[in-house]
Amino acid sequence: MIQDNLKNVQEKIDAACERSGRKREDVALICVSKTKPAEMIKEAYALGEREFGENKAQEMKEKHDMLPTDIHWHFIGHLQTNKVKYVVGRADLIHSVDSLHLAEAIEAESVKKDVITHILVEVNVAEEESKFGIFLEETVNLVKEIAKLPHIRIDGLMTIAPFVENPEENRMIFRKLRELSVDIRSKNIDNVSMGILSMGMTNDYEVAIEEGATYVRVGTGIFGERNYNIK
Ligand SMILES: *Cc1c(COP(=O)(O)O)cnc(C)c1O
Repeated sequence: MIQDNLKNVQEKIDAACERSGRKREDVALICVSKTKPAEMIKEAYALGEREFGENKAQEMKEKHDMLPTDIHWHFIGHLQTNKVKYVVGRADLIHSVDSLHLAEAIEAESVKKDVITHILVEVNVAEEESKFGIFLEETVNLVKEIAKLPHIRIDGLMTIAPFVENPEENRMIFRKLRELSVDIRSKNIDNVSMGILSMGMTNDYEVAIEEGATYVRVGTGIFGERNYNIK
């Protein structure tokens, strides 16, 4: 199942790149393996996948510590400051930083472990009440504040778009995130590069690619539906 699903997703990524005149190597697939057993990650790994996404700190820690060391782990969930210790030093990229308070906790843990931590700032473009992430208008100020922390590098922006029936409804959200990243890049802030745009999930990753995504985060489309009850 995973093999067929991956083939299907990769083909759709290829097609979206072609449609939008983008280079295939500029778009990377993150296999979102949250709630799924290590065996399924190993299966995707054996098929050549190396980027995996998790949204719970302890779950990422456990999987990280038991699976091959050349896997790149992406932390994509809401991160509480008391769980930062599980993630710093294990995640290659933390996609979900949305407050100075959290960034300061990541800075402190990075000092302790003597590492530089790469992060994205999570933007709640749609301004959904139920979502984490900072609002669009507040993002530049937050980026400037986080940029002062010497053990953190801001590599770009991330958003979670609403669940919609028709992915076209999210096109403007992706476009706004890209425009914001262009705006921030033009400010040439130290420790800030805007090379990464993490946007698009199973339901809407093709539209996200057309609007400039460099990372798409696909879970269900690769590993199937998640069952939170039996977890
Ligand atoms: C679960 C999750 C995904 C993957 O969602 P699917 O719809 O299963 O592809 C992507 N991004 C984040 C932040 C998630 O929590």
